[in-house]
Amino acid sequence: MSRTDVLILGGGIIGCALAEELGRHGQRVAVLERGRIGAEASSAAAGILVSQTDVSHPGPLFDLCQAARRMYPRWIEHLERRTVMSVGYHVDGVLYLAMRGQDESSMKRQAKWQTRQGLRVDRWSPKEVRQHEPSVDGNIRCGFYFPTEAQVDNAVLMQALTTACRKAGVVLHETTSVRRVLVKDGTARGVDTDQGTFEAPVIVNCLGSWGALDKTFPTPVPVQPARGQMLVFLGPKRLFRHAIMSSEGAYVVQRRDGRLLLGSTVEFVGFTKALTVDGMHTILSRVRHMSSAVTACTFVESWSGLRPHTEDLLPILGSTTVDGLYVATGHFRHGILLAPITAHLMAELILRGRASIDLTPFSPQRFR
Ligand SMILES: Cc1cc2nc3c(=O)[nH]c(=O)nc-3n(C[C@H](O)[C@H](O)[C@H](O)COP(=O)(O)OP(=O)(O)OC[C@H]3O[C@@H](n4cnc5c(N)ncnc54)[C@H](O)[C@@H]3O)c2cc1C
Repeated sequence: MSRTDVLILGGGIIGCALAEELGRHGQRVAVLERGRIGAEASSAAAGILVSQTDVSHPGPLFDLCQAARRMYPRWIEHLERRTVMSVGYHVDGVLYLAMRGQDESSMKRQAKWQTRQGLRVDRWSPKEVRQHEPSVDGNIRCGFYFPTEAQVDNAVLMQALTTACRKAGVVLHETTSVRRVLVKDGTARGVDTDQGTFEAPVIVNCLGSWGALDKTFPTPVPVQPARGQMLVFLGPKRLFRHAIMSSEGAYVVQRRDGRLLLGSTVEFVGFTKALTVDGMHTILSRVRHMSSAVTACTFVESWSGLRPHTEDLLPILGSTTVDGLYVATGHFRHGILLAPITAHLMAELILRGRASIDLTPFSPQRFR
């Protein structure tokens, strides 16, 4: 039997990004995925890479998001070169629409401290919003434009990452459901799955919303699934020039082929991925408040996904009290953005025993 150095549990964007990074560093890596690679939250996402717009205060999450934003272009370049695929990465900014006075005040405060940190935020009057984004005709207070935010087609990115994993020698085991982690004398030895036992000295939990492994994971991983519903319509190309988010919690992002992704909800309803009348109505009415241009767009498809939510809204990254056992989950609304930095830091931790950014605020051991 061939030896495995690292077992990655879960084949979403976090597990695959880490597997690819470790594979490139000469590790023999296997990914164990219950269904199909990337088929859960990582394909359900909108692919908006927001490192400023929805981070309301300075702190470790903001710093991690900034590191991720800086790293993204290099990561995309690497993946596109490796796979000869184009993953729809565009730095065309995010426009945030403040609908009420209090939304404007809180975003003003956010813009102030972010500008002090050397980042750009432009405040646009309703007239300026219309000039830059003619399809926005809702009753808005003002707009805040974040020019360095980007978007990526996360579904295509997952395909590229799958190819890159294989090229890096990673073995992808689909339809392989992990049942429990095997621990002996305080050290992780392997995992028991419905396809038999897999052994390795290093095991990383990248199970997203399923991180607690039905409460059998040897250490606490308190993630909860936060359902997000998503509706896709087809509209004229470049109907929207930027990804647009409103203070009511809705967003629109348009792919280059004209598809408009309208999102989303944040619902704590367990592991059900149903779409509901209420959820769809909420999305549509909020998007309609921003723009009447969407009314003639035609329906294409819909889906929902489960974001791995943590109580303190920080991801869970690092080693556990069990030797050889690591966790990288809990990325909630930022997993597409945070994938490359997570992979980079976790690979450093696993290979060198230390990450170049202090992972203490994200430590799995903060829940003990
Ligand atoms: C509607 C929506 C919109 C979003 N929009 C954005 C966005 O615009 N930008 C952004 O950055 N993020 C966004 N996110 C968040 C992002 O999608 C997640 O943070 C990210 O995908 C998490 O990746 P993951 O690999 O941890 O989880 P997942 O992609 O869920 O992967 C976990 C994997 O583990 C597998 N698994 C579970 N149990 C087992 C088991 N027992 N054995 C083996 N495998 C198992 C699952 O099948 C799954 O494939 C959005 C999410 C949703 C739902």
